[in-house]
Amino acid sequence: MKELGLYIHMPFCLRKCHYCDFASFAGEEGRIKNYVDGLIVESGAWKQKLEGYKIKSIFIGGGTPTIVPIGEMNRLLEQLYKIFSIKKEIEFSIEGNPGTFDKEKLDFYRASGVNRMSIGFQAWQEELLAVLGRVHDQRQFVENYFLAREAGINNINVDLMFGLPGQTMDHWQETLQRIVELEPDHISAYSLKVEEGTKFGILYDKGMLSLPTEELDRAMYDYAIEFLKTNKYGHYEISNFAQKGKECIHNKIYWNNEEYIGLGLNAHSYFNKYRFSNIGNLDGYIQKTEIGGDVIIENIPVSLADEMAETMFLGLRMTVGVSIQKFQQRFGISPIVQYEKKIRKMISLGLIEVNEKSVRLSRKGIDLSNQVFMEFLPD
Ligand code: SF4
Repeated sequence: MKELGLYIHMPFCLRKCHYCDFASFAGEEGRIKNYVDGLIVESGAWKQKLEGYKIKSIFIGGGTPTIVPIGEMNRLLEQLYKIFSIKKEIEFSIEGNPGTFDKEKLDFYRASGVNRMSIGFQAWQEELLAVLGRVHDQRQFVENYFLAREAGINNINVDLMFGLPGQTMDHWQETLQRIVELEPDHISAYSLKVEEGTKFGILYDKGMLSLPTEELDRAMYDYAIEFLKTNKYGHYEISNFAQKGKECIHNKIYWNNEEYIGLGLNAHSYFNKYRFSNIGNLDGYIQKTEIGGDVIIENIPVSLADEMAETMFLGLRMTVGVSIQKFQQRFGISPIVQYEKKIRKMISLGLIEVNEKSVRLSRKGIDLSNQVFMEFLPD
């Protein structure tokens, strides 16, 4: 039986963070019930297509899935367990923000099979949390972290950010130190990207956002890699670090270019040699599903050349790189042969490294990863 990952998008947040361009909406909690109705309809439409498939990981992301009331989440999960074939031992993650979940919700998650939690925190300092427009403070994060542990969630990720307005190296070092003391299983550390249309984007355009220099941003990244390594967190993907055996199985599905389906607004799927994108508008999603309509707005066939290219640039995100043997097994040709010219060029630029087992980004290649990924796009 084939296996695939399942992503479910919950686009609701208490407040919009100043840097956020994700598909998430504040002040729309009154529509959660209608949205869950929509997810139930949409999942039903996948039922037949997924015959012969087993789900090997579930990730409920957002938005802030932990603001969804227990009753609504329960309706959704009952439907998923009823219609899909789900493996017994799976990684089942939910994203949550401090201040939006309590013991009752955590007990419900555990009883429903959730065994991994990804908690958005970003920075230890109250002043930086305020700059980011986060809805919680440091105390709520720490309390919620321990609450999740006490509830039996034995796999916790903490999301952090660096390169923030007003953030110094001391701030970043303190954030990493304090988080490591809590011993989460996994840490994600993202460099801030100022996105158009966000509050930060508007301030940036007006010249009113003071960001750390590029040098400081890279020094923060280098510090994280070294510090986390010293503290037994392996650097396994550009922005992700994990204790041994705690790498995120679901995200590795994406990076290994394996199949997954995404349910919900703006969700994406890669299934049966097609990439699908769902409608990104909340009204549209709810209205379409109310009449049993299709929420997919784009479906793009993936040619063999596309699949090879995607396997390269997604796989290069992982520090182990792209396995030459696995690529050869999947496509019948070595990546070294398939991309000989491009690989030579990138080696000469110091962007990638090749050994007998794999092709991977160099440290310089990580900083210029978009340039490397573009190289692999089919001509
Ligand atoms: S909590 Fe996450 S999804 Fe919601 S607004 Fe903030 S960054 Fe965006």
